[in-house]
Amino acid sequence: MNVLEIRELSVDYQSGSGAVHAVSDVSLDLRRGEILGLAGESGSGKSTLANAVARLLRPPAAITSGSVVYHRRDGEPVDVLGLGRGELRAFRWKELAVVFQSAMNALNPVSTIGDQIDDVLRIHAPRMSRKERVERTVELLRRVGIGADRRRGYPHELSGGMRQRAAIAIALALNPEIIIMDEPTTALDVVVQREILHEIRTLREEYGFAVVFITHDLSLLMEISDRIAIMYAGRVVETGSAKALHKAPSHPYTLGLLRSFPRLHGPREELLGIPGTPPDLRSPPPGCAFHPRCRFAMDACSLRRPELVPGAEGQVACLLNDDKGVRQ
Ligand code: SF4
Repeated sequence: MNVLEIRELSVDYQSGSGAVHAVSDVSLDLRRGEILGLAGESGSGKSTLANAVARLLRPPAAITSGSVVYHRRDGEPVDVLGLGRGELRAFRWKELAVVFQSAMNALNPVSTIGDQIDDVLRIHAPRMSRKERVERTVELLRRVGIGADRRRGYPHELSGGMRQRAAIAIALALNPEIIIMDEPTTALDVVVQREILHEIRTLREEYGFAVVFITHDLSLLMEISDRIAIMYAGRVVETGSAKALHKAPSHPYTLGLLRSFPRLHGPREELLGIPGTPPDLRSPPPGCAFHPRCRFAMDACSLRRPELVPGAEGQVACLLNDDKGVRQ
């Protein structure tokens, strides 16, 4: 069952030299309790998409079309883009929370970690007593591997990994159904990154929330995600289970991303990378936006834009689409 349904969502950034089409016609489902990975190079639209869903976009960004429907635990559908100010405040912590890449920027530097969790509980769960809030704060910190004594610490007194854990604890405060994690481990070293990924999976098992996990590192997503959506030039170009994408990617861009990072397991492979740079989204290339960089491009690719259609497993937007996956 889906907890979130995004339909034909488009977001533009208005600039003096024309609109930048950061997200174009994206339709995507998030299933209850799943970890959905969102991958793509910088500028592919993944963070803009997440910010649109969380209603965090600020001018010059604007949603130009589409819908986002959230299905509450009781089954009631909520039109996220139609929520008023007050409804949105409640929605953001109780139903959906966001963890950003740099916890140092997201956390308040002049407030202790404990006070920051307490603030969320005090405002959004007014019936909780002071004692209950303290107990909940200690419990949340414990769940993310931070000792109770640290609740009196300020963000600058914690390591990068601990700050990110604290940000996750704040996101968990009201047991949301969805947590959007935007590059939550990118700034951390590999060991801490692995620990946090493991913790996110464990917490997900325990609390049952769904995660949208955003990163440019596809190999990392393979480890943590149930399903993955690949974005290029503001569009979803492939979706599928992590296993299927790992075994047989159907889109040449997915293959390029996979071959851009060394794999932690399996035989050594030559890193191919992806030639060229992402397109200017004020005037993306005609047809398939990936065609100037695609080693499988055909004449038709610059003339016709491939639609996202069911592939061997999941969906793929490529004129080469068949049930055999991309030639490797
Ligand atoms: Fe490459 Fe053509 Fe497929 Fe685009 S449609 S990814 S250019 S083969």
